[in-house]
Amino acid sequence: MINKNLKARGITDERVLRTMGTIPRHLFLEEGLQDQAYSDNPLPIGSRQTISQPYIVGLMTESLELRGTEKILEIGTGCGYQTAILAELAEMVFSIERIASLAFRAQRTLDSFHYHNILIRVGDGTYGWSEEAPFDAIIVTAGAPEIPETLKKQLAVGGRLIIPVGSRSSQTLLRITRLSEEPDDIKTEDVCGCRFVDLIGEHGWKD
Ligand code: SAH
Repeated sequence: MINKNLKARGITDERVLRTMGTIPRHLFLEEGLQDQAYSDNPLPIGSRQTISQPYIVGLMTESLELRGTEKILEIGTGCGYQTAILAELAEMVFSIERIASLAFRAQRTLDSFHYHNILIRVGDGTYGWSEEAPFDAIIVTAGAPEIPETLKKQLAVGGRLIIPVGSRSSQTLLRITRLSEEPDDIKTEDVCGCRFVDLIGEHGWKD
């Protein structure tokens, strides 16, 4: 997976490659899907949601340029695989999932690895997590119709937000950097085209 799906496709951050090389992706999947865990595909995780393909996980993580000291907000815990990677590469991860059964399963899986720097909450992540803001990095793993204002406001100055934005069937992965105290003073970069499940909530798509 590391050589074929990540390095060969341009992921170069050594910390990301090393971490993805050590976290057992198969343990985040149901038994019947575990033999496909290291192919470059999204896979079902229940409740009509999917775990992102390894390349996209690598690309999104690399785009955050983590150094190990960051406080991160993740929206869309899903099975918790991306959460584990973030917990290895940053100081603290706050993660929000709207589907309770997925959040509980992710919590159980992550507990089995004994992470002490992850806090998961069930709810609508489009509101962010105001009590813990500002965040050095925010990662949204579901597709949004536009960049939620709430998330821009909860980003630290100099912080990075990575989010797929577009229609329900296709999006552009955007990297937003907040440049000053003014929340709309941002730099936006296109990372690539992509297709994610819907971000559903007050500042996302309606259910
Ligand atoms: N990173 C996850 C990807 C899961 S798919 C993984 O690797 O498994 C996207 C997830 O976002 C789904 O679990 C979906 O339920 C969740 N989601 C969608 N809208 C949300 C919202 N407003 N708040 C929190 N989670 C949301």
